Amino acid sequence: MAKLPTPKRIQPSIRHDAIKASDYLKYNLPWSCEDCSHYNFEQDLCSFGYLVKWHKREYQKHSYELGGKVSLCRFQEID
Ligand code: SF4
Repeated sequence: MAKLPTPKRIQPSIRHDAIKASDYLKYNLPWSCEDCSHYNFEQDLCSFGYLVKWHKREYQKHSYELGGKVSLCRFQEID
Protein backbone atom coordinates (compact mmCIF):
# COMPACT_ATOMS: atom_id res chain seq x y z
CA MET A 1 0.00 0.00 0.00
CA ALA A 2 1.38 3.38 -1.06
CA LYS A 3 2.02 5.87 1.69
CA LEU A 4 0.02 9.07 1.35
CA PRO A 5 1.99 12.33 1.52
CA THR A 6 1.64 14.34 4.69
CA PRO A 7 -0.45 17.43 4.02
CA LYS A 8 1.43 20.69 4.41
CA ARG A 9 0.36 23.08 7.08
CA ILE A 10 -1.53 26.00 5.73
CA GLN A 11 0.07 29.27 6.72
CA PRO A 12 -1.95 32.43 7.13
CA SER A 13 -1.62 34.57 4.02
CA ILE A 14 -1.85 37.89 5.79
CA ARG A 15 1.52 39.09 7.05
CA HIS A 16 1.71 41.79 9.65
CA ASP A 17 4.73 44.10 9.59
CA ALA A 18 6.09 45.88 12.63
CA ILE A 19 6.26 49.65 12.41
CA LYS A 20 8.37 51.73 14.79
CA ALA A 21 6.16 53.80 17.07
CA SER A 22 8.14 56.96 16.25
CA ASP A 23 7.52 56.41 12.52
CA TYR A 24 3.86 55.63 13.08
CA LEU A 25 3.39 58.88 14.98
CA LYS A 26 5.63 61.00 12.75
CA TYR A 27 4.43 60.05 9.26
CA ASN A 28 0.98 59.93 7.77
CA LEU A 29 1.67 56.89 5.62
CA PRO A 30 -0.81 55.90 2.88
CA TRP A 31 -0.95 52.18 3.68
CA SER A 32 -4.65 51.37 3.63
CA CYS A 33 -7.14 50.48 0.92
CA GLU A 34 -8.68 53.91 1.24
CA ASP A 35 -5.36 55.32 -0.07
CA CYS A 36 -5.09 52.84 -2.95
CA SER A 37 -6.01 53.34 -6.61
CA HIS A 38 -7.56 49.87 -6.75
CA TYR A 39 -10.10 50.49 -4.01
CA ASN A 40 -13.73 51.08 -5.00
CA PHE A 41 -15.30 53.14 -2.23
CA GLU A 42 -18.87 52.68 -3.41
CA GLN A 43 -18.73 48.89 -3.53
CA ASP A 44 -16.07 48.43 -0.82
CA LEU A 45 -14.11 46.18 -3.17
CA CYS A 46 -10.58 45.78 -4.50
CA SER A 47 -10.22 45.70 -8.30
CA PHE A 48 -7.89 42.68 -7.89
CA GLY A 49 -10.53 40.85 -5.87
CA TYR A 50 -8.53 40.78 -2.62
CA LEU A 51 -10.27 40.87 0.72
CA VAL A 52 -10.11 44.49 1.76
CA LYS A 53 -10.97 43.94 5.42
CA TRP A 54 -7.30 43.22 6.29
CA HIS A 55 -6.01 46.41 4.69
CA LYS A 56 -8.64 48.99 5.45
CA ARG A 57 -7.69 51.93 7.65
CA GLU A 58 -9.87 50.92 10.59
CA TYR A 59 -8.32 47.43 10.78
CA GLN A 60 -4.79 48.80 10.34
CA LYS A 61 -5.29 51.22 13.21
CA HIS A 62 -6.79 48.54 15.44
CA SER A 63 -4.01 46.08 14.60
CA TYR A 64 -1.30 48.64 15.31
CA GLU A 65 -2.78 49.68 18.61
CA LEU A 66 -3.02 46.05 19.71
CA GLY A 67 0.38 44.78 18.64
CA GLY A 68 2.41 47.44 16.86
CA LYS A 69 1.94 45.74 13.48
CA VAL A 70 -0.05 46.45 10.35
CA SER A 71 -0.92 44.26 7.38
CA LEU A 72 0.64 46.10 4.46
CA CYS A 73 -0.75 45.17 1.03
CA ARG A 74 2.00 44.33 -1.47
CA PHE A 75 -0.21 45.39 -4.38
CA GLN A 76 -1.19 48.82 -3.20
CA GLU A 77 -0.80 51.58 -5.76
CA ILE A 78 -1.04 55.27 -5.09
CA ASP A 79 -1.67 57.87 -7.77
S1 SF4 B 1 -4.58 46.37 -3.89
FE1 SF4 B 1 -4.44 46.00 -1.68
S2 SF4 B 1 -4.54 48.04 -0.75
FE2 SF4 B 1 -5.31 48.20 -2.85
S3 SF4 B 1 -7.53 47.97 -2.67
FE3 SF4 B 1 -6.64 45.95 -3.13
S4 SF4 B 1 -6.35 45.00 -1.10
FE4 SF4 B 1 -6.60 47.20 -0.78
